Amino acid sequence: MTDFTMKKDADGVAIITWDVPGKSMNVLSLDGAATLNTLIDEALADATVKGIVITSGKKDFAGGMDLNVIAGMKQGGAQGVFDGVMTLHSLLRKIELAGMDFKTKKGGKPIATALPGTALGIGLELPLSTHRIFAADNPKAKIGLPEIMVGIFPGAGGTTRLVRKLGAMGAAPLLLEGKLSDPAKAKAAGLIDEVVADPVAAARDWVLKATDADLVKPWDAKGYKMPGGEPYHPAGFMTFVGASAMVHGKTMGVYPAAKALLSAVYEGALVPFDTALKIEARWFTNVLMNPSSTAMIRSLFINKEALEKGANRPEAPDQSVKKVGILGAGMMGAGIAYVSAMAGIEVVLIDAAQDAAERGKAYSTGLLDKAISRRKSSEEKKAEVLARITPTTDYAALSGCDLIVEAVFEDPSVKAEVTKKAEAAIPADAIFATNTSTLPISDLAKASARPEQFIGIHFFSPVDKMLLVEIIKGRETGPRAVAKALDFVRQIRKTPIVVNDARFFYANRCIIPYLNEGIRMVGEGVNPTLIENAAKLMGMPLGPLQLVDETSIDLGVKIAKATRAAMGDAYADAPVDEVIFKLADQGRMGRKAKAGFYDYDEAGKRQGLWSGLEQQWPESDAQPELTEVQHRLMFAQSLEAVRALDEGVLEDIREGDVGAILGWGFAPWSGGPFSWLDMLGAARAVEIADDLTAKFGPRFATPQLLRDMAAKGDSFYGRFGAGKKAA
Ligand code: NAD
Repeated sequence: MTDFTMKKDADGVAIITWDVPGKSMNVLSLDGAATLNTLIDEALADATVKGIVITSGKKDFAGGMDLNVIAGMKQGGAQGVFDGVMTLHSLLRKIELAGMDFKTKKGGKPIATALPGTALGIGLELPLSTHRIFAADNPKAKIGLPEIMVGIFPGAGGTTRLVRKLGAMGAAPLLLEGKLSDPAKAKAAGLIDEVVADPVAAARDWVLKATDADLVKPWDAKGYKMPGGEPYHPAGFMTFVGASAMVHGKTMGVYPAAKALLSAVYEGALVPFDTALKIEARWFTNVLMNPSSTAMIRSLFINKEALEKGANRPEAPDQSVKKVGILGAGMMGAGIAYVSAMAGIEVVLIDAAQDAAERGKAYSTGLLDKAISRRKSSEEKKAEVLARITPTTDYAALSGCDLIVEAVFEDPSVKAEVTKKAEAAIPADAIFATNTSTLPISDLAKASARPEQFIGIHFFSPVDKMLLVEIIKGRETGPRAVAKALDFVRQIRKTPIVVNDARFFYANRCIIPYLNEGIRMVGEGVNPTLIENAAKLMGMPLGPLQLVDETSIDLGVKIAKATRAAMGDAYADAPVDEVIFKLADQGRMGRKAKAGFYDYDEAGKRQGLWSGLEQQWPESDAQPELTEVQHRLMFAQSLEAVRALDEGVLEDIREGDVGAILGWGFAPWSGGPFSWLDMLGAARAVEIADDLTAKFGPRFATPQLLRDMAAKGDSFYGRFGAGKKAA
């Protein structure tokens, strides 16, 4: 069984079918590419073959390159990667030229692609090398080049071909944002040629009728000019200068793939096509050899997918949820109801008063209306989803629920009361989950008659947008509850991490020190702009002060008071409190109050940093170096992640990295805190942590684990990678 097979029909059309055995989606492997190469050679040499159609034996065309193969290619070093990429280039160029005489542009054989469904990455780069692309009229199909999302860029000619086909401006959103389109939109954008009911039949007809001229790509024809202009054409100049500034503004220069992509596009536009392909391959090699792309592929593709597929799911029969009861229809409950109903799960949404429950349901109405106005949903779909949500105050409606998610006020006694009421109404084998963000699961489980069926399922706000869900095992939580939580998270299409019960679990435990470090610096008289920019220049999506404004100052005050009460004399964050309590006293509660560390206009749009900060916490004369501010902000988070691992809160560093990126936006280019520390190396990390401790105190104390690793020359992924349990 091979990935590609070829059949010749009576009219002399060779149909090459891509159908990777044992996989639901085609991905290109090196063996697969070699087979395709042989088949193309055979078809081009066979005098009875008039034309070729490349299609798929599956419902989709292809999902892309096998990213595990890319990881493997790197073993051969830069030359290995470059040679591998150039082999692909020559295969696709061979398809493009199809045996024609390059001088006369005659004698080639037409080659078309027929896409039954989704075509991504190399699954689109291959079609782009053929002479015509036919796609099935399948609105569910996604067509595009999403490579940039995992830290690489289209390196099998996709970048060069797309820019020459659409111009730099037209290709920009497809290459730089990895934008995906359905077939109709892909046709409108000029990405594919035709949308038809039966793409194989249409492609067959086309190759039988195609003329020599149909086979010549614009860039191989005489007098070709790049749409929108080349870099030194006045219009092209504007595009290239603008794109460069825009990309730098968005990425702060920390994403090597975006920079390399722009370089490949710019340099490639100045030279002939075949040289441009070579330039693309060199930049692609450069990106693949950068540790950031390894880390991003590992965390954002390989490990994210492994966690979604249940890498840490205990053995248990299928626990898919059919009916979920949600207690509390506030901000979180309403969001959880929406994502559950969208996943086809029946929802009972309970609140203390009927109008509160109704308001919770109305949140879904609002989101669906918005989706309709953006043509992302329909009235039928809206009716279907809303019909699944029953808002009520009656606990008897919970009968038949196999899962409860509790999201009432963050108050142990309120939570205990609703736990008891719900357990009286639900089946004995139902699982009860709490969405608490700060209360220990094991303590809340005391209100439950079945603590082994009690678990934490911690969502992030806003629930419909945030991709991470943290599952927390209490002391007595049993394996079936974990399996249930994981199956639920899979149904609602989010990414789970499973952690043990400890103060603030994992994500909040790491994010709070980041926020606090930023706030503490304001109190010390560090220029707030320096603080915010230092974070952004490390690739954090939001500076700590902006993030505090987003989550609200009063929440910070509440958490500070509770933490101080719990920790007593050990509490070390008084300098942080001094700053946020002072802001709270002045009513500057953050974005929702249109006043916080930042100023906001009437519509709530963020303006600059509040000028009053300077009066209340005057800037000190000696401002720190940028690197020192960055080290403080990054180590505040990363050391906490190491401690969570060391203490057994985290059991798997893959979860630590994926959770950090999806949960609080930890510099995605780095692959997460453990990947970042591996890039620094344990020895250097210890050196920095020791310096920070000497200068700023024990909150930066170097964890023993890191010290041991430095002594042994270990890395996190070397020691704990690929699912090796930390504990
Ligand atoms: P919220 O105040 O918006 O909603 C709480 C809802 O619970 C209200 O509608 C209230 O009427 C209802 N309620 C209170 N007592 C009740 C009772 N006895 N019976 C039925 N309903 C009752 O709060 P929220 O922000 O949605 O938070 C809910 C839970 O989720 C809290 O435990 C919170 O810590 C947690 N959480 C919040 C966030 C966040 O960002 N807001 C994030 C993760 C977790």
